[in-house]
Amino acid sequence: MSITGRIHSLESFGAVDGPGVRFVVFFQGCPLRCLFCHNPDSWDTNGGMLMEADRLAENILSYKNYLSGGVTFSGGEPLLQSVFCEALMDQLQENGMHIAIDTSGAIPPENVKNILDKADLLLLDIKSIDPTMCKTITRMDNHNALKTLQYREKIGKPVWIRHVILPDYTLDYPMLEQMAEKLQKFSCIEKIELLPFHKMGEYKWEALKEPYQLEKIEPPSKEDMEKIKEIFRKHHFEVS
Ligand code: SF4
Repeated sequence: MSITGRIHSLESFGAVDGPGVRFVVFFQGCPLRCLFCHNPDSWDTNGGMLMEADRLAENILSYKNYLSGGVTFSGGEPLLQSVFCEALMDQLQENGMHIAIDTSGAIPPENVKNILDKADLLLLDIKSIDPTMCKTITRMDNHNALKTLQYREKIGKPVWIRHVILPDYTLDYPMLEQMAEKLQKFSCIEKIELLPFHKMGEYKWEALKEPYQLEKIEPPSKEDMEKIKEIFRKHHFEVS
């Protein structure tokens, strides 16, 4: 019998989650509670739609000719459903698909080693390089995320780092300098994606009756985003 998992939603033509045009599978369930989350409806591990890995792989493969990049697993947290995630990845990779996994790195890497070994690309969301700030933003420190990065470095497989710039929290120049310096030691990092905070998911928090704490925070300015990009470029990173 095929393995089943919980899916939040599917996007057949994604252009922002990894290289090329990609099919994006948003997994249901997340152990974090990021203040800026724009998908709080993906948190509940009992929510979403139940899907069989075989059927979902078949559906995705029917788009194969249009997918110049491959498939991205996002969420929620895809590594929370590790058995289902690996089964789906195996079937897609057997059919020549490039798999990127967009993860917060919240799951201990030793529990998802097979997936970290096989994923063609890891999009690792480092919420903050400072463990205390990371806990303030997500409720969990960055220990597992950094261990996940170290593991990909050890096996020599590529990582793109994603980092949300949130005024009053991560928009902190000394902390960003420190982050660029720390990350510079990792040759597995191909790229840094700096994502300006936005409020597009605020209405979902209201609908779920979850208290949204960022209503007074405005998105970072273009000038700040440019200055921050420069910090990472100065440390020889490709930045977008
Ligand atoms: S890890 Fe992603 S899905 Fe989970 S709470 Fe944070 S932003 Fe939301």
